[in-house]
Amino acid sequence: MRRAIYPGSFDPVTNGHLDVVERARKLFDEVIVAVADNDEKQPLFSLRERLDLLRKTVGRIDNVRIAQLKGLLVEFAKAEKAGAVIRGLRAVSDFEFEFQMALMNRKLDAVVETIFLMPKEEYTYLSSRIVKEIARLGGDVSSFVPACVTRALNRKFNR
Ligand code: ADP
Repeated sequence: MRRAIYPGSFDPVTNGHLDVVERARKLFDEVIVAVADNDEKQPLFSLRERLDLLRKTVGRIDNVRIAQLKGLLVEFAKAEKAGAVIRGLRAVSDFEFEFQMALMNRKLDAVVETIFLMPKEEYTYLSSRIVKEIARLGGDVSSFVPACVTRALNRKFNR
């Protein structure tokens, strides 16, 4: 069984994340979308809300599973018997941080490989951060995120 973990904050899930999930699930038997509860990042959506939005969007795909990411990523990967970690690469600006993370994870556990997937060009400028900013300022985010996320953002910003 070839299994991969796709970790992230998913605050909230965007069409860019969905594009990466679609690519990853063609390469692996199972993809576990693992949501990190990173309080340092002060997420707009609670862990439960982020998990719920993911369940509504990728939860029904048969070889995709949603989970909460607890502890060290490499330990989580080993516990789930996953041989790979998937990360999305949008632009050169992602590279430095991702490179450092991937090599650090390799240092912590040489068995888990990091695989970078590039989204469709139209998603390369898309991030959860920018989507939240647009929604907060009253802009239309419906072409960047699934419909349930647009509704959740409108509720958060009382629209
Ligand atoms: P994190 O806080 O771990 O960066 P994110 O939810 O922002 O979590 O992103 C999770 C992963 O998805 C990261 O590898 C990120 O580069 C990737 N990602 C985010 N947005 C996109 C996008 N529009 N296209 C491709 N990959 C993306």
